[in-house]
Amino acid sequence: MNKNSDTKKLFVISGSSGVGKGTVLKGFLEKNPNFMLSISCTTRAPRKGEVDGVNYFFLTKEEFQNCIDNDKFLEWAEFAGNRYGTKKKYIQQCLAEGKDIILEIDTQGALQVKKKMPEAVLIFICPPSIEALENRLRGRHTEDEATIQKRLQEVKTELERAENFDYKVINDDLDKAIADLEKIISGEQNAER
Ligand code: 5GP
Repeated sequence: MNKNSDTKKLFVISGSSGVGKGTVLKGFLEKNPNFMLSISCTTRAPRKGEVDGVNYFFLTKEEFQNCIDNDKFLEWAEFAGNRYGTKKKYIQQCLAEGKDIILEIDTQGALQVKKKMPEAVLIFICPPSIEALENRLRGRHTEDEATIQKRLQEVKTELERAENFDYKVINDDLDKAIADLEKIISGEQNAER
């Protein structure tokens, strides 16, 4: 893929919970190590194995509110009872250092980024079907039933918001989804030159 530092763009990836966007992204990042994944802030508790400063910056509600009050976020959103946000400074630093950066955030946040940075490219990862999504979410065994229900309610809204995204990738076949993502990203980078 193109590594020209003049062509840095912000790529924003969203997808419903359990859609496998993490797996698609992991596959993409393994093949394209020049891209870095933004680390978000969140008020949710770490899941087993998650490390502060690696998976997320885990903040208290007060710390998160303080960042909102001081206009520290490029975007932030409430999702399934927790808050998630991307620090402006972090993104500015990465772009200034010429890094290719990917944000993996929810659809509300993605649309906020597009408003502030219209050059950002929004990509939505779709489940092949709602049933497939529900099965994946339950198979993960990381959330309780109430949380799963809350997240499934979000799915419909997210699919509606995805209508405003630049691209959609259907995660039916993992290798194909990764290849589709690569095609979109390299196409966007080459189109800019
Ligand atoms: P999880 O709790 O499963 O890690 O993430 C829940 C949702 O929050 C996912 O849809 C994920 O994309 C989203 N998310 C993670 N970081 C951010 C962020 O910085 N901003 C926004 N708006 N959403 C985020």
